Amino acid sequence: MNEQPIICPICGDQNTHIDDVSVRVAGGTLRVRISGEDEHCRMDMSGDYLPNGLRRHTIALSGWCESGHTWQWDWRQDKGTTWFAQQEGTS
Ligand SMILES: [Zn+2]
Repeated sequence: MNEQPIICPICGDQNTHIDDVSVRVAGGTLRVRISGEDEHCRMDMSGDYLPNGLRRHTIALSGWCESGHTWQWDWRQDKGTTWFAQQEGTS
């Protein structure tokens, strides 16, 4: 396994955190948000069932760095191809 740190795609800071995962399918979205650490770690899950027009599914990770940047990475499935997109300034 080749392990390497995730760096902030905006400033290159190695102090990054990925705390939010969402999975969107045609009929809705499931979101898991992690906060805190150790015995104070908390996992909140939420979902909606709003149709969003997707044919397949999208998996998204939201991250932030300790210099104050936020971003989201999306992997979207469409007709046998997986598309990657990055949005900056998301929360
Ligand atoms: Zn940054």
